[in-house]
Amino acid sequence: LILNTFEEIEANMPHILIFPFPAQGHIKPMLCLAELLCQAGLQVTFLNTRHNHRRLNKLQDFSTRFPTLHFESISDGLPEDHPRNLLHFMDLVNSIKTVTKSLFRDLLISLSHKSDVPPVSCIIADGIMSFAIDVAEKMQIKVIIFRTISACCLWSYLCVPKFIDQHDRPYSFGSKQLEDPNFQFFVKETQVVTRASAVILNTFDTLESPVLSQMSPFLPKIYTIGPLHALWKTRIGNSSQLSSSDSNLREANSACMTWLDLQPLKSVIYVSFGSYLVLKGEELLEFWHGLKSSDKPFLWVLRQDNNNTISKELGFTLGTMGNGFIIDWAPQEEVLAHKSVGGFLTHCGWNSSLESMVAGVPMICWPKLPDQLVNSKWMSEVWKIGIDMKDICDRTTVEKMVRALMEDGDQRQEIMRSVDRNSKLASESVSHGGSSFINLDMLIEEIKT
Ligand code: UDP
Repeated sequence: LILNTFEEIEANMPHILIFPFPAQGHIKPMLCLAELLCQAGLQVTFLNTRHNHRRLNKLQDFSTRFPTLHFESISDGLPEDHPRNLLHFMDLVNSIKTVTKSLFRDLLISLSHKSDVPPVSCIIADGIMSFAIDVAEKMQIKVIIFRTISACCLWSYLCVPKFIDQHDRPYSFGSKQLEDPNFQFFVKETQVVTRASAVILNTFDTLESPVLSQMSPFLPKIYTIGPLHALWKTRIGNSSQLSSSDSNLREANSACMTWLDLQPLKSVIYVSFGSYLVLKGEELLEFWHGLKSSDKPFLWVLRQDNNNTISKELGFTLGTMGNGFIIDWAPQEEVLAHKSVGGFLTHCGWNSSLESMVAGVPMICWPKLPDQLVNSKWMSEVWKIGIDMKDICDRTTVEKMVRALMEDGDQRQEIMRSVDRNSKLASESVSHGGSSFINLDMLIEEIKT
């Protein structure tokens, strides 16, 4: 009888399908949201590409913890050994648009014929996969868009067509960027946001309120529910064996935590350029020399898919090298929270930026891609929690920046005041009664109705 009742309840729960773009920085926040929705009593199907699905090694733990969380996977249309990094980004985009779109439609149809789950009543689709909106509209399913970028970046992308019409260019983007097919893709995908029922942003109101009020008249209802990894900790983290980093597609090196334990308080600069960027050999060398001359201990994530041959030729090896420790992949949230870490040299990906803000770690920003350029500018000029290196990469600048951020002078003190204030605001937004906490409840209500 109890089993029947449970099955009946499950059969009547709203069924949400969440579909992230197949990249680390998209999967992590969207999986955090999936768990939060399950915790609130919703049924969630989390859709990955097959390639990424195989790399998520904690799937069993997720399903045990959340019985209403189910995983599905479909092909991204690329051969298994395709590098799927930034250098080949458009291959992935084009393949998804052609191959994955029809598989997605087939999956929705097959889910609607299943007897043990209700049909999908709402799709939360990544905002750079407009084909999901096309399919959902044809099948008359409600769509909510999840954008994994900052509000200031979303607003910049939305404004680009207007700037081009006026023969102007947005403040952060160079003319090189405007001609880049990757950039054009992001700008074009962004314009579909107005077709969604609502937009979810991984940010918090006190951080981006001016830009949020600027753009809200032009967009559907916006739900700001970030920093999601921190909201996850408030609502799930303490009562679960899982960590929000369990959605990592790579195995993290835990030896770096032992190395960090041996370093003095706030002395280490953590260096990581995210999951996607590929640095050139000469850039690797400039960073290496700059970090070495700074004389500060550093922990550097040098992904082995990042020009592996070049980095080997240059003599980079994993483990201790000079004043540094080099690893393939870090348990980043734990690293940033470690007492020895005093700064973060980052590419300004939005997840990394939020993780650094929450941990109260100041940043040196070395942005490459358009969204990172916008974030970097805001970090230094608006929020004043980092130093913008722009895309300059020479050893003297690296050394100078590391010293300015890590040594206890006027510049560090001023930045630390903003960093501490900002970290407090981030924590408040995800605690009981905070804006992101409340907005998540409102989003759940919208989905339920
Ligand atoms: N990350 C990690 N270990 C690493 C490097 C990155 O766990 O060694 C995680 C990081 O915590 C973040 C994500 O990978 O959540 C990277 O996302 P982000 O938006 O910062 O950059 P992207 O990889 O999309 O460029």
